[in-house]
Amino acid sequence: MTSSLFCPNCGRRSEGGLCAQCFLERFDLVKCSSILGAKICTTCGSFFQDRKWVECDPHGLAISTVRSQLNINPAAEDVHVAFEPETLGEIMRVHVHVDAVVKGMAASKDVDVDVRIERESCDRCRRIAGGYYEGIVQVRAENRFPTSEERSRCKEIAAAIINQKSDRMAFILDIRELKEGIDIYVAPIHAGKQISKAITEEFGGKLSEAAKLAGRRDGREFYRVSFAVRLPQFLVGDIISLGDHVIDIARMGKRVVGRNLKTGAQFTSDVDDLGGAELLCHRSDAQTTVLTMVQDDEIQVLDPDSYEPRTLPRPAFLKAESGAEISVVKTRKGMFVLPEN
Ligand SMILES: [Zn+2]
Ligand SMILES: [Zn+2]
Repeated sequence: MTSSLFCPNCGRRSEGGLCAQCFLERFDLVKCSSILGAKICTTCGSFFQDRKWVECDPHGLAISTVRSQLNINPAAEDVHVAFEPETLGEIMRVHVHVDAVVKGMAASKDVDVDVRIERESCDRCRRIAGGYYEGIVQVRAENRFPTSEERSRCKEIAAAIINQKSDRMAFILDIRELKEGIDIYVAPIHAGKQISKAITEEFGGKLSEAAKLAGRRDGREFYRVSFAVRLPQFLVGDIISLGDHVIDIARMGKRVVGRNLKTGAQFTSDVDDLGGAELLCHRSDAQTTVLTMVQDDEIQVLDPDSYEPRTLPRPAFLKAESGAEISVVKTRKGMFVLPEN
């Protein structure tokens, strides 16, 4: 059988069949279609991969699209694949270089695959466009309207909580500014719960929630939850009367911390125990005047409007000496020296 000693293709000597070189030339190390498709969200830039939308960079998307469609010949061993993506307008061309060992011989192959980008809306952007939400965080305040600082801080808290969540279906649909407060429309329900809890932890106040049937979705009853946040009536820097006391509020949260301006003693209370308290004025209403005399339990100051000398009990925190400038507030409960901040 002389024919088996020569390669049928090139005629060189061979141990039967094709010689090593002709075998490698005909060996299909890698197969892949030269054009593949990938979906990208028009609005947010998310990618559709493995039947779900994900966040990744365009090159990462092109590489994983090609990788998932690449067929390496199972006869190849010790396979190394390198991908080099290149953006060409709406196409990403991926240069693929494969190194392997086939029947003990080194083999390599280069292929180019074009990944065509199709644009559509992702699951999250479709929900947002459709006005979808599961909860409303309604921020209001007790016997007043929330301040602009409180409003913007609530929005910051909401955005931070949404950004922290790994759930890509968590989003803020809308924030509505109302005279009496703000309404933050969110999904999912859990995000609304976290936002409203974080707001009351920071500001104090009350939180209640109510679920309401909003219809059916995918054959199941669909509920929306309102989280009603009621910020406390008083703010840091408010000076309030509470029974016989006049309190300068220094910190507001679940616990209220301040200073009793009549005695100078530290004041702490649960926010719920401020019932019946009334706002007298704010620290920003303070006026500067001169301390004209200091005694053990009495001081004399000039009335900042009439310059008449006034005698007041000496608050424990007052360290200034006579002649010093101090801050006072005039309220309907009398005039009080303010502790320095
Ligand atoms: Zn040959
Ligand atoms: Zn999107």
